[in-house]
Amino acid sequence: MAEELNPFKIAQQQLEHAASIMKLDKQALAILREPRRTVTVNMAVRMSSGEVKTFQGFRVQYNNARGPCKGGIRFHPLETIDTVKALAAWMTWKCALADIPFGGGKGGIIVDPKKLDERELESLSRAYVRALGNIIGPETDVPAPDVYTTPQIMAWMMDEYTNIVRHNAFGVITGKPTEIWGSEGRKDSTAMGGMFVMREAAKLLKIDLKKAKIAVQGFGNAGMYAYTLSKKMFGSNVVAISDSQGGIYDPDGLDLKKLEDAKKKTGSIDGYKSKNAQKLTNEELLELDVDILIPAAIENQIKKDNADRVKAKLLLELANGPVTPEADEILHEKGVFDLPDFLVNSGGVIGSYFEWAQNLSNYYWSTEDFYNKLDKFITKSFNDTIAMRKDYAGKGQKISPRMAAYIIAVDRVSKAMKVRGWY
Ligand code: NAD
Repeated sequence: MAEELNPFKIAQQQLEHAASIMKLDKQALAILREPRRTVTVNMAVRMSSGEVKTFQGFRVQYNNARGPCKGGIRFHPLETIDTVKALAAWMTWKCALADIPFGGGKGGIIVDPKKLDERELESLSRAYVRALGNIIGPETDVPAPDVYTTPQIMAWMMDEYTNIVRHNAFGVITGKPTEIWGSEGRKDSTAMGGMFVMREAAKLLKIDLKKAKIAVQGFGNAGMYAYTLSKKMFGSNVVAISDSQGGIYDPDGLDLKKLEDAKKKTGSIDGYKSKNAQKLTNEELLELDVDILIPAAIENQIKKDNADRVKAKLLLELANGPVTPEADEILHEKGVFDLPDFLVNSGGVIGSYFEWAQNLSNYYWSTEDFYNKLDKFITKSFNDTIAMRKDYAGKGQKISPRMAAYIIAVDRVSKAMKVRGWY
């Protein structure tokens, strides 16, 4: 039978798996299996040619039992409602595991932003906020940047929302430029959070990070910072990295300047040159004999047909959804310590929470303060996950870190729904 790759079906399967382990109340499960609200909007935008084009967009508000919905907006030519629903579900679990006062949401527009000029991009961004202005807001639903959306787009969106409510509402959106009270530290907060998790996991698995060999898939925001920070913070040896064109492997470690030069010259890091460097495919990168593997690119990279060939001891899911449920079971059986996306990459949303909290209180923190607080929040999430696993092990049941994290998150959301009288 073909492996299930529909992201929303995968999100539902994961939830059902957790629900069966924790014996979740059936009524709570019925509420949590589907988003509370799914909105589709069609936006007419006048292009620079004078022609009017329509674009379809979505906003999914998955669950708000613990606070306003929170989640990014993606601009992608292949955006689907099922991807947005899945990501909104994962945001719900991510915010609950991080124990921040948000529910989960996500948005998207079917568009290839590379085909728009700047004026068209601004018009589309503002049109999205006008279409959804009555359901977003600092107290209801707080978007952020995601795939192919930028701090500039967040600034236009915040400004459009301000036009609707007739006062500055900086807390309506996060990931803003610092000129309009975006937060110091947020830019690399996803990878930084991943590094704090890596530090804790390495302690547990007795991996010496100074000697550890690391492979990173992806050289975007998440992957590039994971690469630079693991070298800077721990002196680790990143031996392989890739982008959509392919990857590069060097047992002596990779040099950032050379990577950036190759990217500038050829548009891809696979033009990287050094004495012992070899090209490799993205598939080969995942199967390298390294201590730590960090998928930081796109979803469904480790599947049932290659999971058995993963050799890393620790797998840090910095991307969203890089491991399919079937691969998850294979990795668990093999003893690979696979830490789930909604723990590893939660530094991004924790950073967004800090930005929102600063906007609402109008009091701004130092970068140092930001990173210290991020460390506390994400280290606690990691410790909670390990403790939950131990708890089940004590009852004679071996569960994966993903299931342990799910159980914590689903328990927090369902308890909030229960006391509110939703079931
Ligand atoms: P990005 O667009 O900046 O970078 C993506 C990278 O992946 C690029 O280097 C691209 O070349 C590479 N890539 C694309 N297709 C690939 C393929 N088939 N094989 C290998 N590499 C490929 O995106 P990002 O912000 O770094 O996000 C990466 C992942 O991390 C996504 O899953 C995203 O949802 C997740 N994430 C990012 C953040 C964040 O703050 N940036 C937060 C949470 C989760």
